[in-house]
Formats: sequence, structure tokens, C-alpha cells
Amino acid sequence: MEIKKGDAVKIIAGKDKGQTGEVIRVLPKDNKIVVDGVNKVFKSVRPRSANEKGGIVEQPAPFDASNAMLICPACHEATRVSHADVDGRKVRICKHCGANIDEKAGKGKATAKKAARKAARKADDKE
Ligand SMILES: [Zn+2]
Repeated sequence: MEIKKGDAVKIIAGKDKGQTGEVIRVLPKDNKIVVDGVNKVFKSVRPRSANEKGGIVEQPAPFDASNAMLICPACHEATRVSHADVDGRKVRICKHCGANIDEKAGKGKATAKKAARKAARKADDKE
């Protein structure tokens, strides 16, 4: 699977098409991902203790990873990736600008969020 936890992705198919967000869970066995704020479903929750309230909560549900495209943290475009070996490590390379995606993503959560936001802004500009 090309997409990893912490990546910024753009949704390219389905009801949330065009949205961007950060990958918060990856289910490689099912080829599915969970993206923050995307594919939200209502779920009823049973109270587990006296202090906890039950009810309906909204939460992101897993969806097919092929419906999402990785957003490059360097050029902020939704992109396909190629693979390369850097110092014996397998890294993902942006086919758009040639940046080493895993190097950039290594800086953590803030970067993925930022990339998602920038990509969303770019998409707005095009409309
Ligand atoms: Zn790029």
C-alpha cells in the first residue's frame, strides 16, 4: 500500500470526493484507510460506565484506499508515487516534483495537516 498513517490525502472518488485530510489509521489487510473528517458516519455508543453518556457520535469510517491519492508534502499536489532506495531504506518519491515524501513526512503530524490544508486551498483556487 502506498498510503501510510500520518500522510495527507485527497479523496478522488465517492461522496467525499475533493476533500483532503490526514490519514489516522491504515488497514492494510482490507486495503482501507481512515481519514480525519472524511467519510463520517453516525454510530450509536453504549455508555460503558455510569459517568459516560451513550448516544450518537459522528466518526470517520474506513474506506477503500484506492479512493484516495497521496498529497505530496513538498509540492502539495495529489500525486502517484514511485519508490527508491535511500541509504538502504525504501522511500516514496513524488512523481510530480521528485521529492522524497517519507523524508518530509517524518517531521510529523503538523506537516500532513499543513499539506492537506494547502492542497485544499489550491483546489479552491482552481474553481
Ligand atoms: Zn511533489
